[in-house]
Amino acid sequence: MRPARALIDFEALRHNYRLAREVSGAKALAVVKADAYGHGAVRCAEALEGEANGFAVACIEEALQLRAAGIRKPILLLEGFFEADELSLIQEHDFWTVVHASWQLEAIERAELRKPLTVWLKLDSGMHRVGLHPAEYRDAYQRLQASGKVEKIVLMSHFARADELDCASSEEQVAVFEQARTGLSAEVSLRNSPAVLGWPQVPSDWVRPGIMLYGATPFEQAHPLAERLKPVMTLESKIISVRELPAGQPVGYGARFVTDRPTRVGVVAMGYADGYPRHAPTGTPVTIDGQFSRLIGRVSMDMLTVDLTDLPQAGLGSRVELWGKQVLASEVAAHAGTIPYQIFCNLRRVPLVYS
Ligand code: PLP
Repeated sequence: MRPARALIDFEALRHNYRLAREVSGAKALAVVKADAYGHGAVRCAEALEGEANGFAVACIEEALQLRAAGIRKPILLLEGFFEADELSLIQEHDFWTVVHASWQLEAIERAELRKPLTVWLKLDSGMHRVGLHPAEYRDAYQRLQASGKVEKIVLMSHFARADELDCASSEEQVAVFEQARTGLSAEVSLRNSPAVLGWPQVPSDWVRPGIMLYGATPFEQAHPLAERLKPVMTLESKIISVRELPAGQPVGYGARFVTDRPTRVGVVAMGYADGYPRHAPTGTPVTIDGQFSRLIGRVSMDMLTVDLTDLPQAGLGSRVELWGKQVLASEVAAHAGTIPYQIFCNLRRVPLVYS
């Protein structure tokens, strides 16, 4: 079998979830949308179900997958419903739904429901993506209350720049939120991972950690709480071929790397078809049998090349960690000009192995 695989460490996942609860002092919905950021939503939800207050997903398809697998805890649809007729499924499976637009509010008012819903009413406090305008927020709350269709409302919003700790944007969003919810008596939820770790003063009954559950920092700079995260995924493979090249020889597509000394080149069974970022340049860190080395040349579809010159013990069959506990996914992402969210979500073809 091809040696490329992603190991998923459930203890690390549970540790990170507990950290979110501990530092926020709030209830936490584990965000497992997009197949738990590539880590496998059903298996991750099962691993957390004993202690999680609930889960959050993007859409009803993802929520149904969790229910079908036997997940019984609350599941929030972060984008709410896309069609009014999803409300019957929402009711049947006891999903919680976000309401971020007035057409959704009207759909709930019109719906014939057998039992009342739990609604997370989303305010656009400044991100300007989805959410109700501050001027319509109170009215929306009152209409939901008056509709008789809703048993519980949680007031929510989402930060645009919580990962930028020296930026006033999050405080401005909180001020807009506080103003819009004046006089409304309900639980609140604002904080995603960067806000859980970096904005302790933001009020929260519920937090919504995603990336931190998987052990990756949402920040570009070092942060003491992010240091306490444990990477959940280890992406690994093996050296499948070794080349000894003199100085002056090109390696790989486009001859993007030319040896500047006699070089031992290791070929690794891992490529961009597995989700390893094609834009990772020469110098991106890897470990080989636990020793740090670097990527050289262009990443191809099924293979990539690494420098073995200073690792005389390494050779055919050596284990290569592309990211994990030694090489952080956030470092690889930074080298490739992207974010750990994307490199996790891009993972494909590689079997997930759980422990
Ligand atoms: N809450 C909402 C509304 C989101 O859209 C997301 C993810 O995009 C999250 C929480 C989780 O964010 P993070 O992964 O940064 O914790």
